[in-house]
Amino acid sequence: MPESLPLSLLNDYLYCPRRAALKVVEGWRSANQHTHRGDLVHEHADLPGYDILQGVTLLRALPVFSETLGLSGKCDIVERHPDRTLVPVEFKLGKRRQWQNDDVQLCAQALCLEEMFAATIPGGAVFHADSKRRRLVEFTPALRQSTLAAIADLHALLAAVAMPLAEFKPACEHCSLFEICLPKATENPGRAERAALNLFRT
Ligand code: SF4
Repeated sequence: MPESLPLSLLNDYLYCPRRAALKVVEGWRSANQHTHRGDLVHEHADLPGYDILQGVTLLRALPVFSETLGLSGKCDIVERHPDRTLVPVEFKLGKRRQWQNDDVQLCAQALCLEEMFAATIPGGAVFHADSKRRRLVEFTPALRQSTLAAIADLHALLAAVAMPLAEFKPACEHCSLFEICLPKATENPGRAERAALNLFRT
């Protein structure tokens, strides 16, 4: 059985493997305006409990896990519909991102729920706080495959001792670990060493 990793780390891994490794291997957790806003968006969904709206039970902050995949975490909301279908809903800042990490994180939640309840979950939703839009996500075979591949890659990354090198990219501008990672300086180890030596040159 693989070691259990936090579900949210999948999102970090797809954002940038180095970010996931910095968080787990070196224990860094830093906040910026984006993480603070994210915390606010999650505030209500983080309170465990349930509501019933129009026959649909909304379970908040539901802990989920998969022994098979080595994942654990929580779902912001899981809807239980009258026909017993379960629908995970994830709260996110902003509009839809151009990368797929939110959908993979949601699909991973569904895989956990399917294992826990021996259920089939055809889809979920991402609620985008800025646009107040609910975007449906179908758990297609392709998305399930991408999710399983990402989970396997994340386990492999963390089993390896080496920290991935930084690679400066647009996502770095919004990364809360930017000041710790220093991607412009550390993407080229030779450059970083030269910069360190120059500090002591007179
Ligand atoms: S600053 Fe860039 S390279 Fe460094 S962890 Fe963040 S996204 Fe990755």
